[in-house]
Amino acid sequence: MTKKQRKRPVNASRVPVYRDAGFYLEDAGITKKAFQEELEHSRSPNHYIYSRYRNPTVVAAEETIMALEACSWSILTQSGMAAIDVALSLFQRGPGTGKWLFFSEIYGGTNAFIDKVLIEKRGLDIHRFFATEGRYDTDLLEDQLNRLQPEVVYFEVISNPTLIVADAITIINLAKKVGSAVIVDNTFATPWLWNPLNHGADMVIHSATKYLAGHGNLTAGVLCGNDAQLEKGAIEYRKLVGHMLSPDDAYRLNDMLKSFEIRFTRHCENALKLANLLNNHPAIDYVLYPGLTGHPSHHLAKKLFSGKGYGGMITFDLAGSTNPEKEKNRDRFIDFVSDRIRLIPTLGDAETILLPVESVWGEKYPMPGMIRLSVGIEDFDELEATVAKALDKLKG
Ligand code: PLP
Repeated sequence: MTKKQRKRPVNASRVPVYRDAGFYLEDAGITKKAFQEELEHSRSPNHYIYSRYRNPTVVAAEETIMALEACSWSILTQSGMAAIDVALSLFQRGPGTGKWLFFSEIYGGTNAFIDKVLIEKRGLDIHRFFATEGRYDTDLLEDQLNRLQPEVVYFEVISNPTLIVADAITIINLAKKVGSAVIVDNTFATPWLWNPLNHGADMVIHSATKYLAGHGNLTAGVLCGNDAQLEKGAIEYRKLVGHMLSPDDAYRLNDMLKSFEIRFTRHCENALKLANLLNNHPAIDYVLYPGLTGHPSHHLAKKLFSGKGYGGMITFDLAGSTNPEKEKNRDRFIDFVSDRIRLIPTLGDAETILLPVESVWGEKYPMPGMIRLSVGIEDFDELEATVAKALDKLKG
Protein backbone atom coordinates (compact mmCIF):
# COMPACT_ATOMS: atom_id res chain seq x y z
CA MET A 1 0.00 0.00 0.00
CA THR A 2 1.36 3.43 -0.92
CA LYS A 3 1.61 6.32 1.57
CA LYS A 4 -1.22 8.09 -0.31
CA GLN A 5 -3.56 5.10 -0.09
CA ARG A 6 -2.81 4.76 3.63
CA LYS A 7 -4.06 8.31 4.27
CA ARG A 8 -7.27 8.13 2.21
CA PRO A 9 -10.18 9.05 4.54
CA VAL A 10 -13.25 6.82 4.81
CA ASN A 11 -16.57 8.53 5.40
CA ALA A 12 -17.65 6.30 8.29
CA SER A 13 -20.12 7.84 10.74
CA ARG A 14 -18.33 6.70 13.84
CA VAL A 15 -14.78 6.39 15.09
CA PRO A 16 -13.62 2.95 13.91
CA VAL A 17 -11.80 0.33 15.97
CA TYR A 18 -8.15 1.33 15.84
CA ARG A 19 -6.39 -1.86 16.81
CA ASP A 20 -2.93 -0.45 16.14
CA ALA A 21 -0.56 -1.16 19.01
CA GLY A 22 1.61 1.76 17.88
CA PHE A 23 0.81 4.64 15.50
CA TYR A 24 2.65 5.88 12.42
CA LEU A 25 4.75 8.93 13.36
CA GLU A 26 6.42 9.70 10.01
CA ASP A 27 9.74 11.18 11.20
CA ALA A 28 11.98 11.78 14.18
CA GLY A 29 10.82 15.38 14.64
CA ILE A 30 7.13 14.38 14.88
CA THR A 31 8.11 11.53 17.19
CA LYS A 32 9.95 13.91 19.52
CA LYS A 33 7.02 16.36 19.57
CA ALA A 34 4.49 13.57 20.18
CA PHE A 35 6.42 12.30 23.21
CA GLN A 36 7.05 15.81 24.56
CA GLU A 37 3.37 16.73 24.32
CA GLU A 38 2.10 13.39 25.49
CA LEU A 39 0.46 14.62 28.70
CA GLU A 40 -0.53 18.02 27.30
CA HIS A 41 -3.13 16.81 24.81
CA SER A 42 -4.92 14.58 27.20
CA ARG A 43 -8.06 14.09 25.09
CA SER A 44 -7.14 13.91 21.44
CA PRO A 45 -3.46 14.45 20.76
CA ASN A 46 -2.29 15.50 17.29
CA HIS A 47 -0.31 12.30 17.21
CA TYR A 48 -1.24 9.09 18.92
CA ILE A 49 1.83 7.12 20.03
CA TYR A 50 1.03 3.72 21.50
CA SER A 51 -2.36 2.21 22.41
CA ARG A 52 -1.43 1.55 26.02
CA TYR A 53 -0.94 5.34 26.35
CA ARG A 54 -3.97 6.50 24.42
CA ASN A 55 -6.15 5.26 21.60
CA PRO A 56 -8.65 7.17 19.41
CA THR A 57 -11.42 4.55 19.73
CA VAL A 58 -11.08 4.68 23.51
CA VAL A 59 -11.11 8.50 23.42
CA ALA A 60 -14.38 8.42 21.44
CA ALA A 61 -16.09 6.34 24.16
CA GLU A 62 -14.56 8.56 26.86
CA GLU A 63 -16.15 11.59 25.20
CA THR A 64 -19.58 9.93 25.32
CA ILE A 65 -19.15 9.30 29.06
CA MET A 66 -17.98 12.90 29.59
CA ALA A 67 -21.33 14.08 28.25
CA LEU A 68 -23.19 11.68 30.60
CA GLU A 69 -21.27 12.66 33.75
CA ALA A 70 -21.14 16.34 32.65
CA CYS A 71 -17.39 16.56 33.18
CA SER A 72 -14.27 17.72 31.37
CA TRP A 73 -12.39 14.40 31.30
CA SER A 74 -12.94 10.70 31.64
CA ILE A 75 -10.53 7.82 31.28
CA LEU A 76 -11.52 4.25 30.52
CA THR A 77 -9.86 1.23 32.12
CA GLN A 78 -10.18 -2.55 31.69
CA SER A 79 -12.37 -2.92 34.80
CA GLY A 80 -14.04 -0.98 37.59
CA MET A 81 -11.30 -2.16 39.96
CA ALA A 82 -8.65 -0.71 37.63
CA ALA A 83 -10.51 2.64 37.69
CA ILE A 84 -10.50 2.53 41.51
CA ASP A 85 -6.77 1.77 41.51
CA VAL A 86 -6.07 4.69 39.15
CA ALA A 87 -8.21 7.10 41.22
CA LEU A 88 -6.54 6.20 44.51
CA SER A 89 -3.02 6.14 43.03
CA LEU A 90 -3.29 9.90 42.55
CA PHE A 91 -3.13 10.38 46.33
CA GLN A 92 -0.52 7.74 47.12
CA ARG A 93 2.89 8.81 48.26
CA GLY A 94 4.45 5.73 49.89
CA PRO A 95 4.00 3.49 52.95
CA GLY A 96 2.55 5.04 56.08
CA THR A 97 0.96 7.91 54.11
CA GLY A 98 -2.66 7.97 53.22
CA LYS A 99 -5.13 8.61 56.04
CA TRP A 100 -7.91 7.70 53.67
CA LEU A 101 -11.47 7.24 54.90
CA PHE A 102 -13.67 4.61 53.23
CA PHE A 103 -17.33 4.12 54.01
CA SER A 104 -18.00 0.60 55.29
CA GLU A 105 -20.87 -0.25 52.89
CA ILE A 106 -19.04 -0.56 49.60
CA TYR A 107 -18.54 -3.33 47.06
CA GLY A 108 -16.83 -6.39 48.59
CA GLY A 109 -14.11 -6.34 45.91
CA THR A 110 -13.22 -2.75 46.87
CA ASN A 111 -13.09 -3.77 50.54
CA ALA A 112 -10.80 -6.70 49.65
CA PHE A 113 -8.58 -4.34 47.59
CA ILE A 114 -8.33 -2.04 50.62
CA ASP A 115 -7.36 -4.90 52.99
CA LYS A 116 -5.14 -6.99 50.73
CA VAL A 117 -3.46 -4.34 48.59
CA LEU A 118 -3.70 -0.88 50.17
CA ILE A 119 -3.08 -2.02 53.75
CA GLU A 120 -1.15 -5.32 53.46
CA LYS A 121 0.98 -4.61 50.39
CA ARG A 122 1.22 -0.83 50.20
CA GLY A 123 1.17 -0.10 53.95
CA LEU A 124 -1.29 2.78 53.71
CA ASP A 125 -3.06 4.34 56.68
CA ILE A 126 -6.69 3.36 55.97
CA HIS A 127 -9.75 4.14 58.13
CA ARG A 128 -13.41 3.21 57.85
CA PHE A 129 -16.62 5.06 58.57
CA PHE A 130 -19.29 2.58 59.64
CA ALA A 131 -23.00 2.67 58.86
CA THR A 132 -25.34 2.43 61.83
CA GLU A 133 -28.83 0.88 61.67
CA GLY A 134 -28.93 0.81 57.89
CA ARG A 135 -27.87 4.43 57.37
CA TYR A 136 -24.93 6.81 57.59
CA ASP A 137 -25.11 9.22 60.53
CA THR A 138 -23.59 12.47 59.25
CA ASP A 139 -23.03 13.79 62.83
CA LEU A 140 -20.80 10.77 63.51
CA LEU A 141 -19.11 11.35 60.16
CA GLU A 142 -18.40 14.98 61.03
CA ASP A 143 -16.76 13.90 64.33
CA GLN A 144 -14.59 11.36 62.54
CA LEU A 145 -13.63 13.82 59.81
CA ASN A 146 -12.64 16.46 62.38
CA ARG A 147 -10.55 13.96 64.33
CA LEU A 148 -8.91 12.29 61.34
CA GLN A 149 -8.65 15.10 58.74
CA PRO A 150 -8.35 12.44 55.99
CA GLU A 151 -6.71 13.18 52.70
CA VAL A 152 -9.33 11.16 50.79
CA VAL A 153 -12.97 10.25 51.47
CA TYR A 154 -14.52 7.41 49.41
CA PHE A 155 -18.15 6.27 49.27
CA GLU A 156 -20.84 4.73 47.04
CA VAL A 157 -23.98 6.80 46.34
CA ILE A 158 -26.10 3.63 46.57
CA SER A 159 -24.24 0.91 48.44
CA ASN A 160 -23.71 -2.66 47.29
CA PRO A 161 -25.55 -4.87 48.42
CA THR A 162 -27.53 -3.17 51.22
CA LEU A 163 -28.68 -0.23 49.07
CA ILE A 164 -28.05 2.53 51.59
CA VAL A 165 -28.38 5.88 49.84
CA ALA A 166 -25.70 8.26 51.09
CA ASP A 167 -26.57 11.85 52.05
CA ALA A 168 -24.06 12.61 49.33
CA ILE A 169 -24.26 16.42 49.21
CA THR A 170 -23.81 16.73 53.00
CA ILE A 171 -20.98 14.15 52.95
CA ILE A 172 -19.11 15.99 50.18
CA ASN A 173 -19.54 19.35 51.96
CA LEU A 174 -18.31 17.93 55.29
CA ALA A 175 -15.30 16.30 53.62
CA LYS A 176 -14.45 19.52 51.80
CA LYS A 177 -14.59 21.47 55.09
CA VAL A 178 -11.61 19.45 56.36
CA GLY A 179 -9.80 19.59 53.01
CA SER A 180 -10.36 15.99 51.88
CA ALA A 181 -10.50 14.94 48.25
CA VAL A 182 -13.74 13.07 47.52
CA ILE A 183 -14.01 10.00 45.29
CA VAL A 184 -17.50 8.67 44.59
CA ASP A 185 -18.40 5.26 43.19
CA ASN A 186 -21.52 6.04 41.14
CA THR A 187 -22.00 2.54 39.69
CA PHE A 188 -25.44 1.84 41.24
CA ALA A 189 -26.92 5.36 40.93
CA THR A 190 -25.40 5.98 37.46
CA PRO A 191 -25.22 9.45 35.89
CA TRP A 192 -28.94 9.16 35.14
CA LEU A 193 -29.85 9.57 38.82
CA TRP A 194 -27.07 11.85 40.03
CA ASN A 195 -23.85 13.59 38.95
CA PRO A 196 -21.44 13.82 41.95
CA LEU A 197 -19.02 16.13 40.11
CA ASN A 198 -21.70 18.83 39.91
CA HIS A 199 -21.77 18.84 43.71
CA GLY A 200 -18.07 19.16 44.49
CA ALA A 201 -16.77 15.57 44.27
CA ASP A 202 -13.25 15.41 42.85
CA MET A 203 -13.61 12.16 40.96
CA VAL A 204 -16.31 9.67 40.03
CA ILE A 205 -15.67 6.05 39.21
CA HIS A 206 -17.96 3.45 37.62
CA SER A 207 -17.80 -0.21 37.01
CA ALA A 208 -18.85 0.30 33.38
CA THR A 209 -19.31 -3.48 33.32
CA LYS A 210 -22.70 -2.78 34.90
CA TYR A 211 -25.30 -0.26 33.70
CA LEU A 212 -23.10 1.74 31.31
CA ALA A 213 -22.45 -1.35 29.19
CA GLY A 214 -25.65 -2.98 30.37
CA HIS A 215 -25.61 -6.37 28.63
CA GLY A 216 -23.48 -8.51 30.91
CA ASN A 217 -20.86 -9.12 28.23
CA LEU A 218 -18.23 -6.41 28.64
CA THR A 219 -15.80 -5.63 31.47
CA ALA A 220 -14.70 -2.00 31.81
CA GLY A 221 -14.24 0.83 34.27
CA VAL A 222 -14.19 4.59 34.03
CA LEU A 223 -12.85 7.46 36.08
CA CYS A 224 -14.25 10.98 35.56
CA GLY A 225 -13.30 14.44 36.80
CA ASN A 226 -12.76 18.11 36.04
CA ASP A 227 -9.34 18.90 37.51
CA ALA A 228 -6.64 18.95 34.79
CA GLN A 229 -3.82 17.89 37.15
CA LEU A 230 -5.80 14.83 38.24
CA GLU A 231 -6.45 14.00 34.60
CA LYS A 232 -2.74 14.07 33.76
CA GLY A 233 -1.91 11.92 36.78
CA ALA A 234 -4.64 9.43 35.86
CA ILE A 235 -3.53 9.14 32.23
CA GLU A 236 0.07 8.68 33.32
CA TYR A 237 -0.73 6.01 35.94
CA ARG A 238 -3.03 4.13 33.53
CA LYS A 239 -0.17 4.06 31.02
CA LEU A 240 2.45 2.99 33.58
CA VAL A 241 0.47 0.10 35.02
CA GLY A 242 -1.26 -0.85 31.75
CA HIS A 243 -4.88 -0.38 32.85
CA MET A 244 -6.03 0.78 29.40
CA LEU A 245 -9.30 -0.55 27.92
CA SER A 246 -8.98 -2.37 24.58
CA PRO A 247 -10.20 -0.49 21.48
CA ASP A 248 -12.62 -3.34 20.65
CA ASP A 249 -14.29 -3.06 24.04
CA ALA A 250 -14.30 0.74 23.86
CA TYR A 251 -16.05 0.57 20.49
CA ARG A 252 -18.69 -1.83 21.80
CA LEU A 253 -19.16 0.25 24.97
CA ASN A 254 -19.64 3.41 22.93
CA ASP A 255 -22.52 1.76 21.05
CA MET A 256 -24.05 0.37 24.24
CA LEU A 257 -23.98 3.86 25.77
CA LYS A 258 -26.41 5.08 23.11
CA SER A 259 -29.22 3.20 24.85
CA PHE A 260 -27.99 3.80 28.42
CA GLU A 261 -30.61 6.34 29.51
CA ILE A 262 -33.55 4.49 28.04
CA ARG A 263 -32.30 1.22 29.57
CA PHE A 264 -31.70 2.69 32.99
CA THR A 265 -35.12 4.37 33.07
CA ARG A 266 -36.64 0.95 32.45
CA HIS A 267 -34.44 -0.74 35.09
CA CYS A 268 -35.77 1.81 37.62
CA GLU A 269 -39.42 1.39 36.57
CA ASN A 270 -39.30 -2.42 36.70
CA ALA A 271 -37.42 -2.43 40.02
CA LEU A 272 -39.93 -0.13 41.73
CA LYS A 273 -42.89 -2.26 40.60
CA LEU A 274 -41.14 -5.48 41.61
CA ALA A 275 -40.09 -4.07 45.00
CA ASN A 276 -43.74 -3.28 45.73
CA LEU A 277 -44.78 -6.81 44.77
CA LEU A 278 -42.12 -8.35 47.02
CA ASN A 279 -42.86 -5.95 49.85
CA ASN A 280 -46.48 -7.05 50.05
CA HIS A 281 -45.90 -10.80 49.90
CA PRO A 282 -46.03 -13.04 53.02
CA ALA A 283 -43.13 -15.19 51.75
CA ILE A 284 -40.82 -12.19 52.19
CA ASP A 285 -39.41 -11.02 55.52
CA TYR A 286 -38.27 -7.57 54.35
CA VAL A 287 -37.26 -5.71 51.21
CA LEU A 288 -34.43 -3.19 50.85
CA TYR A 289 -35.20 -0.81 48.00
CA PRO A 290 -34.67 2.97 48.25
CA GLY A 291 -37.92 3.59 46.37
CA LEU A 292 -40.04 2.04 49.14
CA THR A 293 -41.29 4.57 51.68
CA GLY A 294 -40.19 2.29 54.55
CA HIS A 295 -36.54 2.19 53.40
CA PRO A 296 -34.23 3.99 55.90
CA SER A 297 -32.87 6.35 53.24
CA HIS A 298 -36.02 6.75 51.11
CA HIS A 299 -36.38 10.48 51.87
CA LEU A 300 -32.73 11.09 50.94
CA ALA A 301 -33.06 9.11 47.72
CA LYS A 302 -36.18 11.02 46.73
CA LYS A 303 -34.43 14.37 47.22
CA LEU A 304 -31.07 13.39 45.73
CA PHE A 305 -32.47 11.71 42.63
CA SER A 306 -35.25 14.30 42.11
CA GLY A 307 -37.87 11.60 41.61
CA LYS A 308 -36.12 10.23 38.48
CA GLY A 309 -35.97 6.75 39.98
CA TYR A 310 -34.30 4.65 42.67
CA GLY A 311 -32.02 2.31 40.75
CA GLY A 312 -32.38 -1.22 39.46
CA MET A 313 -31.21 -3.23 42.48
CA ILE A 314 -33.41 -4.85 45.14
CA THR A 315 -32.17 -6.84 48.14
CA PHE A 316 -34.73 -8.90 50.03
CA ASP A 317 -34.81 -11.44 52.82
CA LEU A 318 -37.05 -14.49 52.50
CA ALA A 319 -39.25 -15.32 55.47
CA GLY A 320 -38.62 -18.31 57.70
CA SER A 321 -38.76 -18.96 61.43
CA THR A 322 -35.16 -20.24 61.62
CA ASN A 323 -31.97 -19.72 59.62
CA PRO A 324 -32.07 -23.24 58.08
CA GLU A 325 -35.68 -22.59 57.03
CA LYS A 326 -34.71 -19.28 55.44
CA GLU A 327 -31.82 -20.98 53.66
CA LYS A 328 -34.18 -23.64 52.34
CA ASN A 329 -36.66 -21.01 51.15
CA ARG A 330 -33.86 -19.10 49.42
CA ASP A 331 -32.72 -22.24 47.59
CA ARG A 332 -36.28 -23.11 46.57
CA PHE A 333 -36.91 -19.56 45.32
CA ILE A 334 -33.71 -19.67 43.23
CA ASP A 335 -34.83 -23.01 41.81
CA PHE A 336 -38.43 -21.87 41.10
CA VAL A 337 -37.34 -18.80 39.09
CA SER A 338 -34.32 -20.38 37.39
CA ASP A 339 -35.99 -20.76 33.97
CA ARG A 340 -36.17 -16.99 33.64
CA ILE A 341 -33.97 -15.47 36.36
CA ARG A 342 -30.53 -17.00 36.66
CA LEU A 343 -27.91 -16.88 39.41
CA ILE A 344 -25.17 -14.80 37.79
CA PRO A 345 -22.68 -12.89 39.94
CA THR A 346 -22.83 -9.52 38.24
CA LEU A 347 -25.48 -6.81 37.95
CA GLY A 348 -26.87 -4.21 35.57
CA ASP A 349 -27.53 -6.81 32.87
CA ALA A 350 -30.50 -6.34 30.52
CA GLU A 351 -31.95 -9.54 31.96
CA THR A 352 -33.00 -9.93 35.59
CA ILE A 353 -30.39 -11.93 37.50
CA LEU A 354 -29.88 -12.75 41.17
CA LEU A 355 -27.22 -13.49 43.74
CA PRO A 356 -27.57 -15.12 47.20
CA VAL A 357 -25.96 -12.57 49.53
CA GLU A 358 -24.71 -14.88 52.29
CA SER A 359 -22.92 -17.20 49.83
CA VAL A 360 -20.82 -14.27 48.65
CA TRP A 361 -20.39 -11.98 51.65
CA GLY A 362 -20.69 -14.63 54.41
CA GLU A 363 -19.56 -13.05 57.66
CA LYS A 364 -20.46 -9.50 56.68
CA TYR A 365 -24.09 -10.34 55.87
CA PRO A 366 -24.82 -13.69 57.56
CA MET A 367 -28.48 -13.67 56.42
CA PRO A 368 -29.16 -17.03 54.70
CA GLY A 369 -32.51 -15.89 53.26
CA MET A 370 -31.11 -12.82 51.55
CA ILE A 371 -31.07 -12.39 47.78
CA ARG A 372 -29.78 -9.49 45.70
CA LEU A 373 -31.83 -9.02 42.58
CA SER A 374 -30.56 -7.04 39.61
CA VAL A 375 -33.78 -6.11 37.86
CA GLY A 376 -33.59 -6.14 34.07
CA ILE A 377 -35.46 -4.38 31.30
CA GLU A 378 -37.74 -7.24 30.26
CA ASP A 379 -41.47 -7.00 29.87
CA PHE A 380 -42.67 -6.38 33.42
CA ASP A 381 -45.73 -8.63 33.25
CA GLU A 382 -43.56 -11.66 32.52
CA LEU A 383 -41.14 -10.77 35.29
CA GLU A 384 -43.99 -10.25 37.74
CA ALA A 385 -45.57 -13.58 36.79
CA THR A 386 -42.28 -15.46 37.36
CA VAL A 387 -41.61 -13.91 40.77
CA ALA A 388 -45.24 -14.05 41.98
CA LYS A 389 -45.54 -17.72 41.00
CA ALA A 390 -42.31 -18.60 42.84
CA LEU A 391 -43.39 -16.74 45.99
CA ASP A 392 -46.84 -18.36 45.94
CA LYS A 393 -45.24 -21.77 45.61
CA LEU A 394 -43.04 -21.02 48.64
CA LYS A 395 -46.09 -20.23 50.74
CA GLY A 396 -48.24 -22.99 49.29
N1 PLP B 1 -17.91 -0.78 42.21
C1 PLP B 1 -19.06 -1.43 42.42
C2 PLP B 1 -20.17 -0.73 43.15
C3 PLP B 1 -19.23 -2.74 41.98
O1 PLP B 1 -20.40 -3.39 42.22
C4 PLP B 1 -18.16 -3.38 41.29
C5 PLP B 1 -18.30 -4.78 40.83
O2 PLP B 1 -19.26 -5.45 41.10
C6 PLP B 1 -16.98 -2.67 41.10
C7 PLP B 1 -16.88 -1.37 41.56
C8 PLP B 1 -15.81 -3.31 40.38
O3 PLP B 1 -16.07 -3.35 39.01
P1 PLP B 1 -15.47 -4.45 37.98
O4 PLP B 1 -16.06 -5.76 38.34
O5 PLP B 1 -15.87 -3.91 36.65
O6 PLP B 1 -13.98 -4.42 38.20
